[in-house]
Amino acid sequence: MSPAGRAASKGTIWTPDALPASGPSGRDRAAGPAGPGAPRVGVLALQGGVREHAEVLLGLGASVAYLRRPEDLVGPDGLRVDALVLPGGESSTIDRLLRMFGLFEPLRDAVAAGLPTLGTCAGLVLLARTVLDPAPGQRSLGVLDVDVRRNAFGSQVDSAEVALDTTLGPARVAFIRAPRVERVGAGVEVVARRDGGIVGVRQGAMLGVAFHPELTGEPLFHAALLRAGGGRVPA
Ligand code: GLN
Repeated sequence: MSPAGRAASKGTIWTPDALPASGPSGRDRAAGPAGPGAPRVGVLALQGGVREHAEVLLGLGASVAYLRRPEDLVGPDGLRVDALVLPGGESSTIDRLLRMFGLFEPLRDAVAAGLPTLGTCAGLVLLARTVLDPAPGQRSLGVLDVDVRRNAFGSQVDSAEVALDTTLGPARVAFIRAPRVERVGAGVEVVARRDGGIVGVRQGAMLGVAFHPELTGEPLFHAALLRAGGGRVPA
């Protein structure tokens, strides 16, 4: 069976279009093959790698909702997800789409209020307080107290699969036009370095990594996200 098929057999991907227009609350909708107690994780699905994140999350027993519109994130009863993934892609494009879809403010407010969030690569750039070399007009959510430099490890041809020793454990991950963290605030913990440069940070329930764990199927960081969200995670 393909990795996708294997993951899908364990849980459910709820795309916004698959959700009934009315009916039970977002929390109840998470019930399904993944089980009634399974955390429901929203994966921002405007641009960039989405499917691979869903596969890792499903493999860990979570259910997954793709977020494209504000109402995918917040319903009449409050937040519809227990945790959030901001995937890689191109941070300036994701920023533009967030504003176009009216998701920028709701997302920023939810993360700032403590919704457990994993940002990978462009997702880390999006979380950062300061982007040192932004594209013209580029904004970030500004919720994670770090400064990041985009494309700090070179261009697409410098992409590499790398084994890292992180404070969460050993990890095998992919670097693709990856940013590097150049300043961390007082409340920010460094969780990963590559050649001395900071490539993974944690602040409260926010985890930001410069790389792609989902492309190598590395579950370490998604598992940490689910733990931050109070989810049960296989050891
Ligand atoms: N360099 C991209 C950016 O600045 C990030 C690349 C990635 O997400 N793989 O957004």
